[in-house]
Amino acid sequence: MSSSIDSTLTPAVENSTDRAQRINALRESAYRIRRHALDMGEVQGQGYIGQALGVADILAVAYKDVLNYRADEPGWAERDRFLLSIGHYAIALYAALAEAGILNVEELATYGSDDSRLPMSGMASYTPGMEISGGSLGHGLGVAAGMALGLRHQGSSARVYNLLSDGELDEGSTWEAALACAHHGLDNVTTIVDVNALQADGPTAGVLRTEPVTDKWEAFGWHAIRVDGNDIGALLTAFDAARVHRGSPSVLVCDTQIGRGVPLLETREKAHFMRVEEHEWQVARDQLAHHHRNRKGSDA
Ligand SMILES: [Mg+2]
Repeated sequence: MSSSIDSTLTPAVENSTDRAQRINALRESAYRIRRHALDMGEVQGQGYIGQALGVADILAVAYKDVLNYRADEPGWAERDRFLLSIGHYAIALYAALAEAGILNVEELATYGSDDSRLPMSGMASYTPGMEISGGSLGHGLGVAAGMALGLRHQGSSARVYNLLSDGELDEGSTWEAALACAHHGLDNVTTIVDVNALQADGPTAGVLRTEPVTDKWEAFGWHAIRVDGNDIGALLTAFDAARVHRGSPSVLVCDTQIGRGVPLLETREKAHFMRVEEHEWQVARDQLAHHHRNRKGSDA
């Protein structure tokens, strides 16, 4: 599709040392997010661990590089909004909110317990930094459209991000909202689709074929970028491009790997909702640490 980019908004040229440092810092953040997710998973012995490990790099880039927010004032009017449509990914977002300083790391140990502010499905009324309640799939983008219109009417420069799953592309409401965002030229909206190729009923390709995903978003009038969602350098470039794009909403179609960084879980057959045995949690942490050490040497 045709798109206009205001060159005055193009990110300043970054030298290679600055960029390498930026990437390395984000790798450390992604590692901590994965560690938090494993620690929380161990509290319950099961859960949506695979998805959390898969989107950790996206959340690290979002919360440590992209989003504008105040950790000590989660309701700050000018904050960028990050909407988690997929309520079952709450474990991943809590880990990111701890990394962002919005939640205390110690509180993560209460995950899923009675009286905790961290229920197993994300709920806005419980948790600081959780913008919407997202258990019913396919509603996040509609809410994002309304928020983005409201912010534009207010003259706010705050942006709205919506993380949704490839399973949510089965929902008609997602595409209705996509039409509305494009119709209103909501260039303050960035949608992030977690394409892990899996959903509750099985592989996405077998449940309801949505590929070619990028072509569909473009046909709906969106500025679409497909990116390796586990490559921090590629994610930085994609988020930067979305931030400066003008005239239409942007979507980052992110290919991710379930269980990323923990081979024990990357290869697990029942990956949508994982049961992890008691003795496996430490193995998972050790494998993650090993993966992280090896990752440091490579560059995106
Ligand atoms: Mg999926």
